[in-house]
Amino acid sequence: MKIHLIKDTGLSAEVFTEVLDLLNAVPGPLQFTCDADSLINFNEEDTFEHIYVEEKEFKAQKSVSSSSSLLLSQEYSFPLKRSTISWSKLFKSCNDYRLANQVPNGDFVMLLTEQNNERNWFACLDPQKPTNGFIQTSDWSYFIKCSAAFPVAYEVIALVLQKAMFNSIKDVQANAHKDAIGCINDLCVNKKDIILKLRTADICPECMAKLKEKLSFTTIQHAISIMESLRTKMLFSQNFKQAVELSPIHIDESNRIFLPGFENIEIKLTPLEKTLYFLYLKHPEGIAISYLTDFKEEMYSIYAKISGADNINEMRGRINDMGNITTGSASQKISKIKSQFVKAIGEELAKHYYIHGDNGEVKKVEATLKTFDI
Ligand SMILES: [Zn+2]
Repeated sequence: MKIHLIKDTGLSAEVFTEVLDLLNAVPGPLQFTCDADSLINFNEEDTFEHIYVEEKEFKAQKSVSSSSSLLLSQEYSFPLKRSTISWSKLFKSCNDYRLANQVPNGDFVMLLTEQNNERNWFACLDPQKPTNGFIQTSDWSYFIKCSAAFPVAYEVIALVLQKAMFNSIKDVQANAHKDAIGCINDLCVNKKDIILKLRTADICPECMAKLKEKLSFTTIQHAISIMESLRTKMLFSQNFKQAVELSPIHIDESNRIFLPGFENIEIKLTPLEKTLYFLYLKHPEGIAISYLTDFKEEMYSIYAKISGADNINEMRGRINDMGNITTGSASQKISKIKSQFVKAIGEELAKHYYIHGDNGEVKKVEATLKTFDI
């Protein structure tokens, strides 16, 4: 089964890629592809302004529980005008893509959009053609403290399963669980319920029975494995996973960095950031930033191996900058590396992995993690 993900111009390429990577982290019969070049550009004529007069109206529409009111009042003042789009426009863009790219009828086309929609749902299938669907990528921060990519990826799976379980949108509304039980089919009438559903990443026996009639065992198993992997990664990123053994660092043949002990989470760094990180991994005794200049040749040989860049002068220039303390290049990269680890596995675990040390002092990565060969 193939699921084509498309995006509108409002959604960042970074979050879009993150969603795709999360979905593709577990191999199986559900195949997720993206077309990053095919951007849906909604213009002014496609949208209308919806005005929320009071905070409680916005909250009621988004079904937010009272606990997030503090967060809301810090972000918005009322009346609040929001650019809004109709469901029919969202589904039309899926259909246009389907026609233009000759997507087979049985494949899904799902639009990831930053746009607020007329009924303020986070995700929905097209009632006319339920292999089309949209998922709203904005507003998640009012409900859950983690990257939007986690709930968005989860909703992609939820829509695929919904298509198999229900015959129509009315059927969804009538038969999804109105009282949250931590099943993928919870209607989620308040914030707490969304968190419950994401944290359990479960399918109740009743829904499972319906799914088994429509989908193969391997497909259901794949969907469950992806949800479980999302759940664990989300817990890592929210710092909930503390008392676990540290994972070794695995660097694969393409120089991608994985943590096999933590759901094989990938730490995404640019080639220059990797160069610096690998240098520190190779030198567990640590290196003060002011001494990086002595390691230029070593950095250059790492960079030449992993960057794929072919302009030698340009490569030398970048490494020279990194070795020159006055440019601030190495410090910037050290803080970017830190933020990538914190984003992936939370502050507590991340500190065992990123390069740390006081200003002007020797910086290092914990030596116990040296389990690789660069
Ligand atoms: Zn259920």
